[in-house]
Amino acid sequence: MSIDRTVQCSACDAACCRLTVVLMPGDNVPERLTTHTDAGLHVMDRDEDGWCVAVDSARMCCSIYETRPAICRKFAMGGPACREIRADLADRYAREIPLTLS
Ligand code: SF4
Ligand code: SF4
Repeated sequence: MSIDRTVQCSACDAACCRLTVVLMPGDNVPERLTTHTDAGLHVMDRDEDGWCVAVDSARMCCSIYETRPAICRKFAMGGPACREIRADLADRYAREIPLTLS
């Protein structure tokens, strides 16, 4: 897997925490932070803006870091999926900036 070592979580708005996190047997996450999809998957719940409800929005970090799900532990900082979701979020931010015509 190619890793971009210049990418750092400390300079990211927790972009990967907008992805669907499917919980695995052995994950130990408070039930109140989870939900079930229509297809019956047990997943981390997300807020109206799409972020996992376990995100500490003041610090933009995981509030359950020590017991975060296995899928989150495996996510590689600077890896292909990380770079892709960061680019998606950057696009979204760019679209949300209103254009001002003078
Ligand atoms: S793993 Fe990647 S997308 Fe997730 S917080 Fe870190 S830099 Fe951002
Ligand atoms: S559990 Fe933590 S690391 Fe995983 S998506 Fe939610 S906030 Fe991010």
